[in-house]
Amino acid sequence: MDASGSQQLFDDWDDISDSEFLNIPSEQQSIEPQHPLNSETHGEHFDSPCASTSSQHNMNEEALAQETVKTENVSGLKRKSLHENSFSPMQRFFKRHLSVTLLCDQSWCEMKTVYNLLKPLVKRKEMQRAEVQIGKQIHLSREREIQDVVPVDIRTREDGEAIKLLNMLHMIPLLEAGERVREFPVFGVQKGVFVMGVIDELMYNQKGELVLNELKTRRQNSLPSSAQDKVNCFQVGLYKLLFDGLVRGEVKKDHVLNHLKLRSDQILGAGVQAHAKSIGVQVTTFEEVVDALLITVSCSDLPCIDQLQIEYYHQGSSGPIGTRVAPFDEVQVRTELQGHLAYWKGHREPKGVDIEEAWKCRSCLYKQTCDWTKNRLQVSDQQAAHSSS
Ligand code: SF4
Repeated sequence: MDASGSQQLFDDWDDISDSEFLNIPSEQQSIEPQHPLNSETHGEHFDSPCASTSSQHNMNEEALAQETVKTENVSGLKRKSLHENSFSPMQRFFKRHLSVTLLCDQSWCEMKTVYNLLKPLVKRKEMQRAEVQIGKQIHLSREREIQDVVPVDIRTREDGEAIKLLNMLHMIPLLEAGERVREFPVFGVQKGVFVMGVIDELMYNQKGELVLNELKTRRQNSLPSSAQDKVNCFQVGLYKLLFDGLVRGEVKKDHVLNHLKLRSDQILGAGVQAHAKSIGVQVTTFEEVVDALLITVSCSDLPCIDQLQIEYYHQGSSGPIGTRVAPFDEVQVRTELQGHLAYWKGHREPKGVDIEEAWKCRSCLYKQTCDWTKNRLQVSDQQAAHSSS
């Protein structure tokens, strides 16, 4: 049984797994070679991220309205700055946390992630594409194969977040008993930033190892490109960091309350309290749910995740394409994450794709207006003019 808030008042946490928001157009349009169907390599697929609520969109539109463009001289070129004031991007985009989805988007192209936030209507249209919706439906039906969805009336942000924590409290004993669970939320503080995501599926393999299984649906009946692979490995690696941190007891109550700006003493709505009772949890305030969750998860018998794998399904036929085991290099995942967070904390300007990955721009929604691309073309023109003179 998985509870779902009847009103999506706030969308601080992704409600369903990040996966369905991670299918991007470059899938069908990129020129990068695809892996053959019978590839034995391990990895995952690419997607484009980021679902935002309408309230967040409005705030981002506000941020856009406040955006003033300044120019600065970089390598002899005038370029516009997306980093023009003293507020960090976390502050300018009104973000209390970052989602795994957003960070994976950033892995594909940071500049694109920024444009998505600045131009939410473009992003919203992209999310309405048929293949994204099909992927979302496949994820929802997979979730419902093993758990019913119970609507619960929510009236405050704390109610909405409590539902997610209660879902975790419901799933932990199932997982401890060796059962498979789906749509398991994870969160934690990484380098001072609250990061959250939703794991598609957790289960044990025949060796008794805890396996994270990420479902990806693809329009093409082939395994993803290496660039998409890289993003997906980062995604499941982040999930592992967050999940392992939870079971090791590294997440503290203050992390949740302070980073998400939630009221500890907020009395939970009647519907939420009734739902909590129905799954054997007696709570009245939001703080009590946080306490119950953190004690339960850190004192549970749950191990850290042993294996990361990604399952690919073809959208058209619903048939499997293949499964890859993703490697996990903690240092590499943390280094990449740190690099991404440097932008959000305001330590550096956003950057676009490297010249070797310029093929990504061909299918990008922002290719006509992207400053990064324009600057790159100007540099090329200048270099060509210089060498011919
Ligand atoms: S055009 Fe290229 S560099 Fe610019 S946002 Fe798109 S993918 Fe990134």
